[in-house]
This record gives sequence, structure tokens and C-alpha cells, in this order.
Amino acid sequence: MEQTNKSPLDDIQRQIFDRIAKNDVNGFKQLITQLKERVDFVDDDGMTPLQHACCKGSKEIVQILLDMGADIHFNKHGADYTPLHFAALSGNTEVCRLILDAGINPNSLNSVSRTASQMAAFVGNHSCVETINNYVPRKSLEYYTQPQGQQKEPLISPAQLDAFHQFVIEINLHPVRIALNLQQLGLLRNLQGLKKALEYMCEKEMKKTTDVNELMAFKFHYLRWIVSELMRCEEQCKAQRKEKPSEGDAGKHDFVELFIKRVLKENKLGQLDYVEFILRECVREFPFRECTIFRQVVSQLTAKDPQPALLVFRNAINGHRGFADESTYCSSCGNEKPDKKCSKCKQVKYCDRECQRLHWFMHKKTCARPTSNVSASTSASATKESIDTSELQEELSKLATA
Ligand SMILES: [Zn+2]
Ligand SMILES: [Zn+2]
Repeated sequence: MEQTNKSPLDDIQRQIFDRIAKNDVNGFKQLITQLKERVDFVDDDGMTPLQHACCKGSKEIVQILLDMGADIHFNKHGADYTPLHFAALSGNTEVCRLILDAGINPNSLNSVSRTASQMAAFVGNHSCVETINNYVPRKSLEYYTQPQGQQKEPLISPAQLDAFHQFVIEINLHPVRIALNLQQLGLLRNLQGLKKALEYMCEKEMKKTTDVNELMAFKFHYLRWIVSELMRCEEQCKAQRKEKPSEGDAGKHDFVELFIKRVLKENKLGQLDYVEFILRECVREFPFRECTIFRQVVSQLTAKDPQPALLVFRNAINGHRGFADESTYCSSCGNEKPDKKCSKCKQVKYCDRECQRLHWFMHKKTCARPTSNVSASTSASATKESIDTSELQEELSKLATA
């Protein structure tokens, strides 16, 4: 017999490992219903189905196993990899998220003293590094959804906890992404509470007695800064509406639009003056001047020929990506690997029509003017991937009057 001192795998268990190895989700679903015992059994190498599924980066299978009560702390293979180590190596950020949400400790070390995030960095899975390093347990945010001290109302309503969590763990630090996230998550109505909560979070992080995470403290401060900038835009829009009450409530969230336009407005050298200004102001207002991240950011911003402040922030919080970074980014919100592009010039990429619309007031100045030839060939080759700009013109003419 091949196995002597371990209980031999039964046929179903063996097939389950086989389905996971082949990433056969349907086959796996069928088999798993026939399983009589717990899902934490191991193969000849001491690995569980959950660990294998994390290795494979199979989100669906990982989710099923977690739903079935798979133990994230189960460890029989000897190298002390947590499921997060395997997920980090797989390069799948969603699997990393599932394991983080399940409550894994991201600081757990494997047998060669590496965290999951360090393993991900080692193999160049930068999105996984960022996902893990930006993670904040949902539970730690519950504090802000309960009234504290003299408060009658909590800073964040309990119904907004999930949205608040999503907002805080976002890895893209572009001001446009932050504004769009607030809008999409329904958090715009409570900017005041959000701002206060982020302020406390920054303070709380820096005043911890152990494991202070300066990077997160700085990130919370930065998010708070963007939120207060949005509030300033909101005030300005309100003041304008008072002057012209005839326009009524048309476009209640026009302050988001105002903010985004300011952010994306390039000067003649293609630089983002407003972003540069608010980020530098943000650094000046950071209350913890002794910490490494503050000194690092200041020295970079005051260097001769400094990099754009947004890049300095991104590198400070999320780490340098090194020379291997050939990813493309959305020209509007900075999201990685957008899959749409301007149909006319094909030079700029966007996440979706909304991102393109928001950027058009700048991009129209440089977007290639089609000659009759080019326009014929582009419309012929127009794929699902590209976004037509002619409709956009129409939308924008409506918008220009706002
Ligand atoms: Zn975008
Ligand atoms: Zn274009």
C-alpha cells in the first residue's frame, strides 16, 4: 500500500484534489456534496483542499470551502504557509481578499520567516502585495459605527459599515478613484462623519503600543484630506446654487464632478497642479512628524526635480513596483489594466464610459483629429473594446451648461 501511517484518502477525497488541480469548478461542486466528513483532510503532502485551491487562485472553490467551514489555520504540511501565503503566490487578489475576510493574520510567518505579502513581492505579484498591505479587518471599523463618549450618533451608520470597509481597503489612491468610490458606495451624504472617523483612525494607529503601521496611518490621513477637499467643493457648489436658485437641485452631486475636473485639469506641461497642491498641503498637515513615512515623503517632495506628488504618495504607501511595472492605467481614475480605450486615437485607456466622460474635457485637446481615411478605418475596426467618442460629444454639450 502507498500509505502506511496516514489514513488513506478515499476515492472522493482523491477526486476532489484532482478537480481542484484542474480548476474544474463544476466537477468540484458535484463531488463536494458527496463528501461525508469535514473538508480539512490532507493529501500525501499534508495539504488541504483549501490550500490547494488558494494555490490555484480559484476564487469560487475557495469560497465554497470557506462556506463549508474550512479551517484557515489548519497546517499539516510543515512549511507553515497559511492559505494567504498560497493565495499571494497565486497572484489572485480576490482570493487574497476572501482569506483576509475570513480572518487570517497577514503577519503570520512561514518556515523561512516570510509573510504572505513578502512572498507576493518576491514573485512580483504587486497587486497582491497592495491588497494585503492595505487590508484593515472589518471588525476594527465597527468601533466607528457605535456612538462613543458624548456622541449621540455614531460617525458612520451601522448600515454603512460594509461600504466604509470597501472604501478604506481600496488600493488605488488616485483622487478621482477615491471620489468615484465614495459616490458608488453611497458615502457622499456623510462626508463629515467619514472625515472624523478617518482622523481618529490615523491617530489610533500612530498611538498603538505595538505594531504601529505608519503607512496605514498616512493613508487614513490622506483619505481624510481628499474627503475634506470634496467637502470644500460641496460648499462652493451650494454657494453657487444660492446665487442661482433657478437651477434647483439639478445634479446634487455636481461637487464630485467639480472636484474630478479640478483633479484632471492639466497645465501646459501636462502636470496636475491641483493634485500637486492638495497633496503637498496634505503632507504639511500630517500631525506625526517624527515618523519615517513623513520624512521620506517630505524629502522626496523637496528634492530637485521631484516626481509628481501622487506618485510619491503611491510609492510611499504601496511600495515601489520596480522596473517590471509595465501595467497601463486608466487615464481618469488610475485603475490598473483598464480594458477600454478611446476609439478615436486608441492612445488612452479607461475603465468604462464614465471614466472616459470625466476625462474628455482634457483629452479632447489631444485626441487625434480624424481625417476621413482614419475615421473610416477606425469605425470599421471598432470593437467592443473601444468607446465611441461621437456620442460623448452630445453628452458633454449637455454637461457644459451645468
Ligand atoms: Zn477609470
Ligand atoms: Zn482619443
